[in-house]
Amino acid sequence: MRLDETREYIVHLREAISEIVSPFEVHHTSDGPIELRVYPLRGGGWQASLAGTRKLNSGAVVKESKEEAEECIRTQFHEMFPEHFCSDICHIEGSSRSRVS
Ligand SMILES: [Zn+2]
Repeated sequence: MRLDETREYIVHLREAISEIVSPFEVHHTSDGPIELRVYPLRGGGWQASLAGTRKLNSGAVVKESKEEAEECIRTQFHEMFPEHFCSDICHIEGSSRSRVS
């Protein structure tokens, strides 16, 4: 495999990985479910992205830490859906709401 082919392969692999990483939050908005994901980058740092049913014009963000990446993408989500208030069907990781104790 040539070097540029290898690079292209890695790009595709990263895109594929970003799809299979399970979202840390899912918000059910009037536009359908919006998924928030963060995943570590090979070169260091964490990438955060938003995915949903309508075309989201958010660029993926890269931050030093997982917490920063999560915070940043959460802020983007709330800017895009200022009218959204979480209900019981939203999934928030670590939330007591989604756990049976
Ligand atoms: Zn929500």
